[in-house]
Amino acid sequence: MQPGFAPHDNQAEKQRLAELFARQRSAYAADVYPSAAVRRDRLGRLRLALEKHQDALCRAISEDFGHRSLHESKLLEFFPSYAGIDHSRRHVGKWMKPEKRGVSIWFLPASNSVVPQPLGVVGIIVPWNYPLLLAVGPLTSALTAGNRAIIKMSEYTPRTGETLRLALAEFFSEDEVAVINGGVEVAQTFATYAWDHLLFTGSTSVGRQVMRAAADNLTPVTLELGGKSPVVVHRDYPIATAAERILHGKCLNAGQTCVAPDYVLLPRGQEETFIEAARQAVRQWYPDLAASPDYSAVINRRHLERLQGYLDDALSHGARVVPLGECDPASGKLAPTLVFNVSEAMRLMQDEIFGPILPILSVDSVDEAISYINARPRPLALYYFDHDNERIGSVLTRTHSGGAAINETVIHVGQDDLPFGGVGPSGMGHYHGRDGFDTMSKRKGVFAQSRLNGLPLMRPPYGPRIEALLKFMLR
Ligand code: NAD
Repeated sequence: MQPGFAPHDNQAEKQRLAELFARQRSAYAADVYPSAAVRRDRLGRLRLALEKHQDALCRAISEDFGHRSLHESKLLEFFPSYAGIDHSRRHVGKWMKPEKRGVSIWFLPASNSVVPQPLGVVGIIVPWNYPLLLAVGPLTSALTAGNRAIIKMSEYTPRTGETLRLALAEFFSEDEVAVINGGVEVAQTFATYAWDHLLFTGSTSVGRQVMRAAADNLTPVTLELGGKSPVVVHRDYPIATAAERILHGKCLNAGQTCVAPDYVLLPRGQEETFIEAARQAVRQWYPDLAASPDYSAVINRRHLERLQGYLDDALSHGARVVPLGECDPASGKLAPTLVFNVSEAMRLMQDEIFGPILPILSVDSVDEAISYINARPRPLALYYFDHDNERIGSVLTRTHSGGAAINETVIHVGQDDLPFGGVGPSGMGHYHGRDGFDTMSKRKGVFAQSRLNGLPLMRPPYGPRIEALLKFMLR
């Protein structure tokens, strides 16, 4: 947290949480199946709250960060939030409809359907890197599915948390939607509540703790975690274009993006072309990096020191470090930096980088890149640059990742009709659009028997009739 904001009172927030949880529970019990019109109205109010407080929220995010590009906040937080809300408002009626399913011949003429039903009260834990989007996205899914929700904001973004609390309180009763702030101890308590669903976005290590806490109540969890998302470039792909697109994904929010390219597996011999193109792109986007309002700061001193520590550690292990600009550490910013001659002993190849540092590993083939990726924990995203459809298909089927983008980075997260979620240590479960609706609904399988049916033929006393039948059934 940047200085100059009185922290929230943890005891008071815990007290509010207890009261709000009880209130939302009883409000839900009084209206267990909100109509499509009610859900659209809630989504509409969410949009109004964001529109009305957009400027204040952008200011709060920037103050929490020390500096966050205003345009990045609008492009990467507000635009996808509005798009997600609009998409859900358009489709909620269709998603709520029971879905017909097949019936095996033995049970005809009965019918089967899946009936979606709200779960109840949903908990949402938010990280600091996109504090608005990662609160509003899960909230959109929760409201579309007919739930009520309480959001716990990160202790690193107290101004955004407070501004969002006030904005939502203006458009929602707190028994529909509420925001809790405060420190880690509030978040820890939050995870122990018996939510009907808990969606956590954050690091893999804290995700483990959240799942442990949720296990006591058997609370179902969606864990949106992090990891090291690789980029693979095929030798035939124009390296300068790849470099530009990779750097763009890395420079957004100064690399503090869960799906930011973490490292690149580059065809050996293309290093200098990559450096030149990366340098040009950064110079073009941010002519004066340190002063550029378009380049965001690192969230706080601790993280700036962590990132600087990665570079010092890499240098001490013999890396070649290529900064793509200059930033005075006092500005809170770190220049985009490429790192070559990388080895596994370096900390930047062990932890998720979560900042504007990009290690480049030279490889001799795509197969070598795939072996490297598959020998490591399954990442949240994978990026592949190639125009050959057969090779693209092969990379996609031979690797696991939460999501993937071909010839681009990061943008797949903004597609309303794609599921978003990790795999293995990068997370479990999905949300966004239809997948968010499904995650936050109980999808009840319903079998409806017909007046006339063959089931009595299968009842005791068992004799020749069932034996004749079983001959067919067990074939
Ligand atoms: P974090 O795990 O430190 O904190 C996330 C949230 O969890 C915060 O609100 C924090 O208060 C809370 N928290 C901390 N300890 C807790 C505990 N014991 N029990 C319950 N809650 C607790 O993560 P961060 O530093 O805020 O965010 C960065 C991480 O989040 C990175 O690893 C990044 O990749 C990941 N991330 C993932 C996604 C995604 O959608 N998959 C999106 C953004 C960030």
